[in-house]
Formats: sequence, structure tokens, C-alpha cells
Amino acid sequence: MNLLEDIKSKTYEELKETLKEWEIPSFRSGQIFRWLQQGVSSFEEMTNLPKDLRERLAKCFYIAGASVARKQVSKIDGTVKYLLRLNDEEHVECVLMEYHHGLSICISTQVGCRMGCTFCATGKSGYARNLTASEILSEIQTVQKDAGRRISNIVLMGMGEPLDNYDNVLRFLQLVSCEEGLNIGMRHISLSTCGLVDRIYDLEKENLQLTLSVSLHAPNDEIRNQTMPVNRKWNVEALLKACRSYAKTTGRRISFEYAMISGVNDSDACARELASRLEGMLCHVNLIPVNDVTGNHYKKSSAERQKRFISILEKKGIPATVRRTLGSDIDASCGQLRRRIEEEESAHAALREK
Ligand code: SAH
Ligand code: SF4
Repeated sequence: MNLLEDIKSKTYEELKETLKEWEIPSFRSGQIFRWLQQGVSSFEEMTNLPKDLRERLAKCFYIAGASVARKQVSKIDGTVKYLLRLNDEEHVECVLMEYHHGLSICISTQVGCRMGCTFCATGKSGYARNLTASEILSEIQTVQKDAGRRISNIVLMGMGEPLDNYDNVLRFLQLVSCEEGLNIGMRHISLSTCGLVDRIYDLEKENLQLTLSVSLHAPNDEIRNQTMPVNRKWNVEALLKACRSYAKTTGRRISFEYAMISGVNDSDACARELASRLEGMLCHVNLIPVNDVTGNHYKKSSAERQKRFISILEKKGIPATVRRTLGSDIDASCGQLRRRIEEEESAHAALREK
């Protein structure tokens, strides 16, 4: 067990407080904080600190980090998918994408996920643990270093359910947006959730300017219950009520994710029902052709179906777009790579046992 404390999860204020207790001049906390935000992996690298302070820090704290275990680059659009190794040998995935406004990173918040959505590779590989705030931050630091360019946008849409790791995710948001750190403003951050209603109300109270994405994927309970077990706890009505309240308080448009699955949720009737349920809400619908995940029986809706679905939504006044698919040749939807590696590892283990 790690008895040392996680220094990189500390906010600037908390670090200042610690050094005050140690009776160390306060400018040192700024120096340490900046080193940590730059992504150093040891106290030795903090060359402007006196040696005894570095040694004292190393006795009390550890520095979380992540290293690149695998990397795949899309030949189609340059999207890069990373498999990162954490200090305890667990793995998470990140995807780096180029957009017209700069580099955008899709990061993970948990190793695996507990929510068990039937179409999702992460859901299928089970849950190991939450990431700490410092580990979530390390994903960005490691990928930014590898890319050699500043990352300007973040989406919390990788492995895991961010609102199921609420405290660490909120702490991460505070760290990544602070001026002394990576300084990525809330308006450049999106958080995606499968719909943990109690936490959406908590987040509403924070009144942050980030974009909330809600993975809806169905217009009613009958369909949503089949694909998203979370719907049995908080159904579509409860979820949309929370979303209305959230949009009203924050003044921010909610982005509804809708993975189009042929024959499951893509009929005209589904589009009409969705439009009537979203009527009057400050929102936008993002249609995503469902990604084939090995072992599930779902197929993407055809391009004509997608167009027809959008036209029904738009006629009813609901803004909608089909999301651009990036990295389609590298399994860029999160969860797929870790799952493949787990399968490879268990195949290797089986071979070793023979
Ligand atoms: N747990 C959060 C965030 C991570 S999942 C959530 O569920 O929102 C990121 C997005 O990918 C979600 O919208 C999720 O529904 C979607 N997704 C998962 N598997 C997919 C697949 N096979 N095809 C298309 N989208 C998928
Ligand atoms: Fe978890 Fe999101 Fe995948 Fe559902 S879609 S299993 S909530 S990561």
C-alpha cells in the first residue's frame, strides 16, 4: 500500500497550507506547484529547490504519472490513440484529435466502468478503480509532452463515468483550469455522463461554464432500459428533468449524445418522440453512428437513416448534427484498445500455462 500522500492532487491553496505548516517560505509552494503542473516525475527534477526540501518532500509525497504504453496513429486523419500505463500498471486510454481550433484530448476518468452499457467496450471490460485527480491530469501532461504542442480542449469522454468519480473529477477540473497550471478554461472542457441524476444536480450547484454532454441514446425507457442499466435507477423523465434544471441554472446548452443503432433506436417514431421530449430545452443533439464493438450485435444506422432522423429533429426545432468520426481505422472509441490488450494478455497467460 502507498502510504505517501498524492502531492499532484493538491490545489495551489492546499500546497501553500502544507508548506506554511512546515514553516517553508511561501514562494516555494509556487515553485513546487509549477513543477508538478509541468509534469515532472520526481522531486529531484525540481532543481530550484534546496536539496533538503526535495528530500523532505520525497519522504512524505509521491508524484503520480503516466507513461505511453502503446500509440496508434490514424492514417486517415492523424488522430492519435494512446494507451497509458499508470504507476500501478493499470492502463487507460486517451485520444488526441486535431480540430480547427487546435488540439483536443479525450481523457479517461476511471480504469473501466461500472455502468455496463451494452454497446460500450469499456462497460464490457469491467471496473478496476477510480483515477485520482493527479492521474487524470497526468494523461494530459504525458500526451502533450509526446505531441510537443499545447492541448487546448478537453473532453471527459474516455473510459469511465466521470460523475461516478465525482470528487476527483471536480478536483481535476479545478487543477487544470487554474492560472498557475495548464490554464485550460471551463469553456474548453466537456464532460460526458450516462446520466447520474443526483450528481447532475450537484454539478448544477457548482455552476461551471463547461459543456455537459448527456449520453441519452434512446427516447424512452423501453429502449434505454435495454442498453443502459443506469436507466433503471434514473429513467428518461428524471434525467431530462435534471437536464432542464441544469441548463436553466448554468445558461449552458446541453449536448445530447445519441448513438444510432440500426433497428434499435433509429426509427422515425424514435426521432419524433425524442423531439417532443426535448422541446423547449436549451440543447443540441449529436448523432453518432454506433461503433462496432467486438462481441456485440449492433450495427450502424445507414447514412440515409441518419439524415432522415436529423431532418425530423430539425423540423421540430431541435438542433442536431452527425458527429464527425475521427480515427475510424484505429478503434478510436475509448475502451476498445484496453479491452484488446486484456484479451491479448489473457491469451498470453493461457499459452504460458500450457
Ligand atoms: N461514461 C460517460 C463518458 C464516457 S463514454 C458516458 O457514458 O457518457 C463516451 C461516449 O461514447 C458516450 O456518449 C457513450 O455513450 C459513447 N459510446 C460508448 N460506446 C460506444 C459505441 N460503441 N459507439 C458509439 N458511441 C459509444
Ligand atoms: Fe461507462 Fe460511458 Fe461506457 Fe456506459 S458508455 S459503460 S457509462 S463508459
